[in-house]
Amino acid sequence: MTARTTMTPETCDTVPTGVLSVEQARERILAPLRPVSGTERLNLRQALGRILAVEVRAGFAVPSYRNASMDGYAFTHADLAHSRSLQQVGISWAGQPYAGVLKTGECVRIMTGAMVPAQADTVQMQENVSIEGMRITLTAIPEPGANIRHPGEDMQAGDRVLQAGRKLNAADLGLLASLAIPEVDVLRRPRVAFLSTGDELQGIGQPLQPGQLYDSNRYTLQAMLEQLGVETCDLGVVHDDPEAVRAAFLDAASRADLLITSGGVSVGDADHVTNTLREIGTVSFWRMAMKPGKPLAHGNIGDCLFFGLPGNPVSVMVTFLLFVRPAILTLRGEPLTALPEFSATTLTPLCKEPGRKEYQRGILSHNRQQGYQVGSTGKQESHLLRSMSQANCFIVLERETGDLPAGTRVQVIPFDGLL
Ligand code: AMP
Ligand code: MG
Repeated sequence: MTARTTMTPETCDTVPTGVLSVEQARERILAPLRPVSGTERLNLRQALGRILAVEVRAGFAVPSYRNASMDGYAFTHADLAHSRSLQQVGISWAGQPYAGVLKTGECVRIMTGAMVPAQADTVQMQENVSIEGMRITLTAIPEPGANIRHPGEDMQAGDRVLQAGRKLNAADLGLLASLAIPEVDVLRRPRVAFLSTGDELQGIGQPLQPGQLYDSNRYTLQAMLEQLGVETCDLGVVHDDPEAVRAAFLDAASRADLLITSGGVSVGDADHVTNTLREIGTVSFWRMAMKPGKPLAHGNIGDCLFFGLPGNPVSVMVTFLLFVRPAILTLRGEPLTALPEFSATTLTPLCKEPGRKEYQRGILSHNRQQGYQVGSTGKQESHLLRSMSQANCFIVLERETGDLPAGTRVQVIPFDGLL
């Protein structure tokens, strides 16, 4: 693995107790990041969503031969100077061209996509022809050259049809198939390890003891990672013990491009994540002016990028979507675009203290009369995972915003494609 997370002195530990805005934090995270190096060759059928490592050029023209864009009749336009009646001498089927040579006053019946005989230069659609046995009469005269598709109209031989860095979609895969390209070189997928910290965490299947709760974070993380098409490695639950945390971090760093942890990132007596990261790697910052998700450790252990997310389930999801997701997209080699954000009218009053940017959970709806409307899911504390499950969008409230009455226009970020 090559170093991708080089930290400038400015981003190293200079503001360990500073409070960053969401935008500053994103900038610090993303600025030093580069895509993973290393490629793999994949069959087209496995390549959806992957990032092309090298450009693709067309080896030949598509279409490769002149063909009809309509079912009809092919002939030489100049012949119409004598008569608009033509003698049909054969048929050109798609995949089975007419083998003969057309003479003056002759035409062939032709199907869409079939090869146009070399002597013909025009196709008339069958709707504009009257037929009597093997003789046809044109009821309308087409332009010379009508209804013919030419070689190279889609792609010329040598055209650069897909650039390196392209995220392959369904159309791209069809394009590659039309060029008879069976395999493509794509960037390898980033390897992402994740673990939960906390002595109180129990795995599902085990009975809960007093003071325990089930670990949900690894399930939300795994699912959000799967949306991003990375290789995942679930490292389980690590106890709130500095030695155990350290061993788990070193193990993860030796095999992953990115390690994501949840919990233990604050300043409680059982919070060992930030200190461990400081001992064996680099911490670039750990507090942000946002809610939920105020504490967040970011840094690296050698070549392994590190995110220590807060423990509360909603905070995990919000910080993942805002910070880890764009970092992963960058590692994947995807061009970054901002999450789609637009305005909606709030149907419910929104409670907000000025000071931190908030990502509240909302339920967005749309109708023709009122346009986009959004309602709060209710209580917004970060342990209420059900609020994320009920919501279909974030309501984004800027730092300085306070309580808002119903009817106010607010910004929303829909969850489509994120969860
Ligand atoms: P921490 O950041 O470790 O102080 O955890 C904050 C809160 O999140 C505590 O109430 C934890 O019990 C809870 N929490 C931490 N990790 C998880 C997890 N993996 N699943 C569910 N809740 C968690
Ligand atoms: Mg904890």
